[in-house]
Amino acid sequence: MDKQGFTTGIVHGDRNTGVEHGGLRQPIHTSVQYGFERVEDLIGVFQGTKKGGFNYARQGTPTTAALERKITNLEEGVGSICFSTGMAAITAVFLTLLRAGDHLVASRYVFGNTNSLFNTLRTLGVEVTTVDAGVRDNVADAIKPNTRMVFVETIANPGTQIPDLLGIGELCGERGLAYVVDNTITSPALFRPKHVGASLVINSLTKTIAGHGAALGGAVTDTGLFDWSRYPNIAEDYRRSASKEQGLLQIRKKGLRDMGAALSSEQAHQIALGAETLALRVAKCSDNALALANYLERHDAIGNVFYPGLESHPQHGIAKALFKSGSWLLSFELRNADRMVDVINALQLPVKATGLGDTRTLIIPVAPTIFFEAGEQTRKAMGISDGMIRLSAGIEEIDDLISDFEQALKLA
Ligand SMILES: *Cc1c(COP(=O)(O)O)cnc(C)c1O
Repeated sequence: MDKQGFTTGIVHGDRNTGVEHGGLRQPIHTSVQYGFERVEDLIGVFQGTKKGGFNYARQGTPTTAALERKITNLEEGVGSICFSTGMAAITAVFLTLLRAGDHLVASRYVFGNTNSLFNTLRTLGVEVTTVDAGVRDNVADAIKPNTRMVFVETIANPGTQIPDLLGIGELCGERGLAYVVDNTITSPALFRPKHVGASLVINSLTKTIAGHGAALGGAVTDTGLFDWSRYPNIAEDYRRSASKEQGLLQIRKKGLRDMGAALSSEQAHQIALGAETLALRVAKCSDNALALANYLERHDAIGNVFYPGLESHPQHGIAKALFKSGSWLLSFELRNADRMVDVINALQLPVKATGLGDTRTLIIPVAPTIFFEAGEQTRKAMGISDGMIRLSAGIEEIDDLISDFEQALKLA
């Protein structure tokens, strides 16, 4: 069959790989151990000569492998590895591909826990420089002889800044650097980082790919664009594989097997189920987010509204050129930050909760919660004001959301 469309591929993918009894989706394999008739096959799985075999669930199960194929197809990659969380995926990439004395250049505007992880990397002897990645030259100027990797997110949370994704991809290509793009906020439904030259793509499956706030998971996908045979930190053991496989092989062995943050089959099943409606949900969430952004931008009580779909957004041009829509992530500022608690409490529909990419609209004041530990200085450097509110648009009817805001903002 010709290459299928996005959702067609997801909903028919499992059965086309031949599920027993004609099942339409992959079963949940709960076995931890896998037995073999012939010991040669067990040996082959250990040595990697028997492809597609399983030996112990910490390194994968048929259910997680099916999800990995799904993510690989969505990202147009050559392979993926699933983890128990998005943070586990990010940690595995950094800890298996960077060594003491190496240098990582990263966007200044990244997920709070990723930013916190940079500090852990520094204690391990990895240099980390964070820059405003909206300008390619800021990244170029930070590159040193020991730079190995550049890390960015597609749309930053909560400020919605967008890096010069294409420019940085070209730069990494010219300098031979691994380019790691966290695609969580956009998801492959809106954007494929491979198209801007990414080497590895990260997705927190917890967010919009699973979509229902009922499962944690993360994934790393290799786009096949990077030549790992030229990357200095691949161990001798993994150099024997084809160049394209070396990066993921090292991440699977050192990051998944040794560090152990494996995804369970039950969670993989939940995520695969959610992923079937990814494109439909993201389209609806994006429509809602854009309508809310437009409404809020015109409201007297609101200061700045940060949403890539707005013409007022500094990187609106990049968003329009690269992303199918602006995503569900939206932030705004109350002119009077003192009214923030009352306004949020008055809202009936948006759930006062952390988390992103859910079917329900979620809302959270940024400074006293997710960026509390970061401290005032970091918040200032990241452009997070005391009155900033983050909203993850759900799939509710937009009239219900707007009338709820209409009544709550009377208190602003
Ligand atoms: C949530 C998130 C993560 C971490 O994912 P978890 O599954 O919660 O560990 C990483 N990056 C971004 C951009 C996120 O929004």
